[in-house]
Amino acid sequence: MSELEPLKVTQLDDDLYQFQLDFVHAFLIHDETDGWILIDAGFPVKPEHPNILARALKQIGLRPCDIDQIISTHSHPDHVGNLDLIEAQSHAPIWMNDVEADVLEKRVPMRPVFTLTGGPSNLDHPRAAVPVSNRITGETQLPFAGGIDFVPTPGHSIGHCSLLWHRHGGVLFTGDLVVNETGQLRMAAGNENYDQERESLIKVGQLQFDPLLVSHGDDILADAADIYRQALPRLVAQAQQAITIQ
Ligand SMILES: [Zn+2]
Repeated sequence: MSELEPLKVTQLDDDLYQFQLDFVHAFLIHDETDGWILIDAGFPVKPEHPNILARALKQIGLRPCDIDQIISTHSHPDHVGNLDLIEAQSHAPIWMNDVEADVLEKRVPMRPVFTLTGGPSNLDHPRAAVPVSNRITGETQLPFAGGIDFVPTPGHSIGHCSLLWHRHGGVLFTGDLVVNETGQLRMAAGNENYDQERESLIKVGQLQFDPLLVSHGDDILADAADIYRQALPRLVAQAQQAITIQ
């Protein structure tokens, strides 16, 4: 078997890493007291990418069992793909919105998303149920690493959450509220509810943050809140247009 290419692991700050897991990011925070905090977990294991998240962890000298907390933005397969393995080996608590937890635990099927032109897209795939120990309803602050706000931003999925970490002046993890794959912030290609998405886009525009870390595309590492707010009228107009189609 040929040697696997090293994965792209970027240290964004002394306590913050970004893992490029093919087309999606996972993030890792380190706190001296609270340990290693994983944010999202990449896409499902594929034959061509065996143990992709474990390999990324290994590149910085960690193993899955070293993870202390897991935060999940939403239940789509490219964000929870390695959670079964990480949870089984680390027994780390998973913090996740209640509605999304139902999907991860396979109590309900994964809901489809709708493209900007209205077509439904089914994201579900064969997967193992993963137990969620910490179900979150509404907005709350997770009590580790100096405080991480769990900010409901429904729309992309109806339990979708963004995360605002209080360190470094406010680090925003958008999940799939927005993506940045084409040189400008855009909505994801598919969303469950564009009415909710529009409201969530506006809500995040009222937060203070810098940088803005996306799950897909390029992170915005400087002047992030200004860049986001400049993009906001265009994003809201796109969501509004999709509402009329949906
Ligand atoms: Zn998604």
